[in-house]
Amino acid sequence: MAGRYDVIVIGAGPTGENVADRAVRGGLAAVVVESELVGGECSYWACMPSKALLRPAAAVAEAGAVRGVSGARLEPAEVLARRDSFTHDWKDDGQVGWLNGAKIDLVRGHGRLTGERTVAVGDVTLTARHAVVVATGTGALVPPALAGVKPWTSREATSAKSAPSRLAIVGGGVVGCEMAAAWSALGARVTLLSRGGLLGKLPAFAGELVAAGLRDAGVDVRTGVGVSAATRAGADGPVTLTLDDGTSLAADEVLAAAGRTPRTADIGLAAVGLEDGSWLPVDDTMRVAGVAGGWLYAAGDVNHLALLTHMGKYQARVCGDAIAARAAGREPAVRDLASATRVPQVVFTIPEVGAVGLTAEQAAAAGLRTRVVEYELGDVAGASLFADGYRGRAQMVVDEDRKVIVGLTLAGPGTGEMIHAATIAVVGEVPLDRLWHAVPAYPTMSEVWLRLLEAYGL
Ligand SMILES: Cc1cc2nc3c(=O)[nH]c(=O)nc-3n(C[C@H](O)[C@H](O)[C@H](O)COP(=O)(O)OP(=O)(O)OC[C@H]3O[C@@H](n4cnc5c(N)ncnc54)[C@H](O)[C@@H]3O)c2cc1C
Repeated sequence: MAGRYDVIVIGAGPTGENVADRAVRGGLAAVVVESELVGGECSYWACMPSKALLRPAAAVAEAGAVRGVSGARLEPAEVLARRDSFTHDWKDDGQVGWLNGAKIDLVRGHGRLTGERTVAVGDVTLTARHAVVVATGTGALVPPALAGVKPWTSREATSAKSAPSRLAIVGGGVVGCEMAAAWSALGARVTLLSRGGLLGKLPAFAGELVAAGLRDAGVDVRTGVGVSAATRAGADGPVTLTLDDGTSLAADEVLAAAGRTPRTADIGLAAVGLEDGSWLPVDDTMRVAGVAGGWLYAAGDVNHLALLTHMGKYQARVCGDAIAARAAGREPAVRDLASATRVPQVVFTIPEVGAVGLTAEQAAAAGLRTRVVEYELGDVAGASLFADGYRGRAQMVVDEDRKVIVGLTLAGPGTGEMIHAATIAVVGEVPLDRLWHAVPAYPTMSEVWLRLLEAYGL
């Protein structure tokens, strides 16, 4: 069997779906190839189920932080049932319906490049008139020490049907911290092990506030420690972890939350002159470097620019538009306004962390002359109304030569919803003396903007 399209997209995660949609809107015929569920990691084993597990715990914590409110409590079975409703019980009919509505064809199976503009899916051969897009995402990276003990990965951590009694989490990044918050709220005794501090890519105060929040929730947070060996008793017995501080730790399940690896080991990269298993570096239009003819693109997690759904979807729009423009004989307008230096992110722990742009260290490494201003969020009237004893902090990184904000981090309850204002300021490169006239409403937590600008000297 054979099929001919303008664009072939391998992987129907949020990125692949949006590349195809954008290409179709640009007048092209597109097909997506999907080996598991249409909707990808994000819909079934990442963003949606993890946030569905976390939101009830945050709601209870918020209610418990306001004098005069009592009685809010978690019902684990209901939380898990609500999570299942967000993943549609791991069925993709809804998203397949969306593909149909968007006039995107779907071929189910494992897609593999077999040569220029050609993809094999079982005995089906697809050829592309214009472009092939790799949007195959990432899988969990399992550290060698855990390889023999059937560890949980992010998949089990987001889809488990009940809480283990004791859960050890290896890795203090976003997935480790979020899953520690979720499963401790759902009844597991959680130990979180991190070689460095928590959330090491963000300013240190964010990780410290999150560590304090996790400890308040009963999590045993251990920083500066890694796992050197692990054994499991029998097939499903407890796991014993040997830690590199000489101690050991027993758990019923262990979650490997130590990073991600590209899903490119078996997609035929070698057939087109690339290295199997590698990340796929791209230019501003998501075209893969070093492929003659410029027909191969990579978008989303797999290009390693920013492992976040919203950034994958942004790249998808850039990529789909670029393919449609080139197909029409035009050079695409390069719009990398939300490039790697301006990525927004929310960590949905208790408290939340919202961040966009560069940290002070990243700005210095990029050669910028910066000034860093910080403010205690709890000193803002809106924060004290939001929660009694509010703990939180804000940090603004200003490019002193251009007088614009290049990075902003907010850590504290409710800050996730505040980060888009910062994204607009950073991506829009709004000059500080203009920002000064964007008056935050009283008494909201957004008044931290005013306080930061005052602290800066305006
Ligand atoms: C626990 C967890 C929580 C997260 N929470 C958030 C969050 O709150 N917000 C956020 O922005 N990001 C979050 N992320 C990151 C987010 O999940 C990813 O950035 C996003 O899923 C990437 O989308 P993608 O389309 O590039 O890849 P994926 O979502 O991984 O989709 C890739 C698709 O390609 C398919 N595929 C792979 N190989 C083949 C092949 N050879 N043939 C056919 N199909 C193939 C896969 O089956 C999959 O459906 C989280 C990640 C994890 C692990």
